[in-house]
Amino acid sequence: MTTGTHPGGGCGPTVDDVTTTSVPSRRETPTTTASATTAAATTAEGSPPAPAVIQAAGLTKRYGDLVAVDSLSLTIGQGDIVAILGPNGAGKSTTIEMLLGLRTPTHGSVRVFGADPNAKATRARVGAMLQESHAPETLTVAEAVDLVRHYYPYALGVEDILRRADLLEKRDNRVGQLSGGQQQRLNFALAIAGDPDLLFLDEPTAALDVAARHLFWEQVRGLAAQGKTILFSTHNLAEADALADRVVVINHGRVVADGTSAEIKATVAARTVRLVTDLNAAALAALPEVRHVELAAGESREDAHPMLVIQTSTPEALLARLFGAGHRVEELTVSDTDLETAFIHLVGAAADPSDPTESAS
Ligand code: ADP
Repeated sequence: MTTGTHPGGGCGPTVDDVTTTSVPSRRETPTTTASATTAAATTAEGSPPAPAVIQAAGLTKRYGDLVAVDSLSLTIGQGDIVAILGPNGAGKSTTIEMLLGLRTPTHGSVRVFGADPNAKATRARVGAMLQESHAPETLTVAEAVDLVRHYYPYALGVEDILRRADLLEKRDNRVGQLSGGQQQRLNFALAIAGDPDLLFLDEPTAALDVAARHLFWEQVRGLAAQGKTILFSTHNLAEADALADRVVVINHGRVVADGTSAEIKATVAARTVRLVTDLNAAALAALPEVRHVELAAGESREDAHPMLVIQTSTPEALLARLFGAGHRVEELTVSDTDLETAFIHLVGAAADPSDPTESAS
């Protein structure tokens, strides 16, 4: 994946766009900002409703013969925390880059705050934390943050940005001396420097340890509570489950599910039944109540009666059938299906086993 358009990988206005280097507070200049104009439009009586924060229709991106994103349509409203979930290569980064205006769609359209994502007024309201960014290595953390905040008309203060990114103690460290996790926190700092109304986060916690990841989630929740809209990509299912109020699952560049985490789990199967029985897996799979059956982890096909894991939306009916026919049913547990199981069924593949964070969350 590629990098952003200015130091730090954010996507605010360029130096040439900014006519003044002063950084006024949004509240001090209410009548001149794009945000204030939109806010007024949403609150005045009889005004048309504000446009969706993101409106993408039929987005397609081809790289030669490869269709990386395939007729993807997405509407995202204000204040939503939306996870784009998918395995590696699903098209998450390409989608985000098209929504940011960094890549040109082969087909389809994107509107952000009702306008072109490349428009100066749009970029002033958008922050982005992409997978790679290159803040100047010789600057200190505080200098890098101060540099980037001057690209934006309504930036936060340096102290505030550093505090939110948990970087106060590193403020005088050179960028080139930061660890991977600290670098990722700096990328977050640079993404929020302009106090954006819309924040894109591409795999934001990949280099963070568990404690840092939870702190990060708290910050993101805080931003959403202020009415900011957040779109993040992840292949960490726990992250999508914990943070997002909406999960969009993409695979091979297409949306394969879109809803709350609970809704997505329910589309696959409401419940997971584990049991040991005298029926084999093939016989169970043929029953109408069973959507999917597999051996439990650590069990072998050679075992006479292995523990089986069954996905079903009607566990009561399934168990009634088994008991009614006099089958053995032992070591029975019935539980909610987790998002990982739903995800595996939707994309037809396990989540990336190389992700070291997966099991720790
Ligand atoms: P994800 O972010 O879900 O891992 P990407 O959007 O990075 O997926 O990639 C989607 C597909 O497009 C992958 O098959 C990837 O190899 C391919 N791809 C991404 N960028 C390019 C590019 N610049 N040139 C050719 N293929 C690309």
